[in-house]
Amino acid sequence: MDHFIDATLSDISRRGLIKKIHVLEGAAEPTVIVDGKRCIQLASNNYLGLTTHPKIRAAAIEAFSLFGAGAGAVMPITGTMTIHQECERSLAELKGTPAALLMQSGYSANVGTISGLLGPGDVVISDETNHASIIDGIRLSGADKKIYPHLDLNTLEQHLEDASGYAKCLVVTDSVFSMEGDIAPLPEIASLAQTYGAALMVDDAHATGVLGKNGGGSVEHFDLQGRVDIQIGTLSKAIGAVGGFVAATKGVIELLRHKSRPFLFSSGLPPSVAASVKTAIDLIREEPWRRQKLWKNSNFFKNGLKDLGFHTGSSKTPITPVVIGESNVATEMSERLKGEGVLASAIVFPMVPELAARIRTIVMGTHSQEELTDALGAFERIGKDMGVIS
Ligand code: PMP
Repeated sequence: MDHFIDATLSDISRRGLIKKIHVLEGAAEPTVIVDGKRCIQLASNNYLGLTTHPKIRAAAIEAFSLFGAGAGAVMPITGTMTIHQECERSLAELKGTPAALLMQSGYSANVGTISGLLGPGDVVISDETNHASIIDGIRLSGADKKIYPHLDLNTLEQHLEDASGYAKCLVVTDSVFSMEGDIAPLPEIASLAQTYGAALMVDDAHATGVLGKNGGGSVEHFDLQGRVDIQIGTLSKAIGAVGGFVAATKGVIELLRHKSRPFLFSSGLPPSVAASVKTAIDLIREEPWRRQKLWKNSNFFKNGLKDLGFHTGSSKTPITPVVIGESNVATEMSERLKGEGVLASAIVFPMVPELAARIRTIVMGTHSQEELTDALGAFERIGKDMGVIS
């Protein structure tokens, strides 16, 4: 076995794709001690800074005392707890849907929903840059797949036309694309799906808590209530904990309780997590200043990178990529940034295509302007020194 592993690992290393896992001494705060050095944190999805909110900590501790550490078993066997039900009601309210189902992660939510609702004889039409969990869900479902180039609505329409012979057709898209930070044109996609009688599923992982007046996500942002059949989300980004969810009609949720394999075969979330999530949703609604500050910081930092001459793609959200190209160069730049006190990860294959390596930056609403200015200074010095900008 070892000789096989060694060969694969050296191939990964030769291609510049080795990922060093940083060790953080503390929470995902705006600054964090990484491998012994304090760094400005630009690598977390803790958009609103909720992971350490005192009310969330208190809710988790209380639920831990009341319900214990774990859910006991898979939900279809042991049952769901009242705290899980309360959390699902809050999620459904936030997303504006009749029902919601808690899942163990955003990954499981995508995999379990696509494979639970579709099978052989059905087809999924998917944007080429959709998250890996969507791709894996399609594989597990056994449905046919039709991939359209990123945001190419003409090809999407062509695929919809060609899909008329299938029993069921599902269009799936990320709302905010995790490696680009751009936003899918959901009103147009929803109209196309409706015209051709297809169902529409949106992965709102990076939109929940970030987009929409009340943080409801892309459906609220585009005012598309009732026109998106399924909203997938994660609880690990703006919501600040871990887990995932599906928000949809009561019928879809009931069917998933019978057909989603992660729901059927993997234990539910710890009750303390359900309590944190419920409290986080209250805060997302009660403290809109967090979202306003996030967008202010996002615009400041994105404009700063653009003004320095970095290639930042077509980002419209707090995710701003600094597109580099070669994996080795991106990895070296990330290391040098860390040396200057900025944690910004290199994103390399298979997360992005092999020659599209990048440094992905994500600002938080809780960063200070001074921290972001310092981070821009490090990007400028290192970018010039490495010839990435002139
Ligand atoms: N969808 C998207 C678009 C994501 O970015 C992620 C997280 N990387 C997921 C799904 C998976 O979420 P989780 O981390 O909760 O499994």
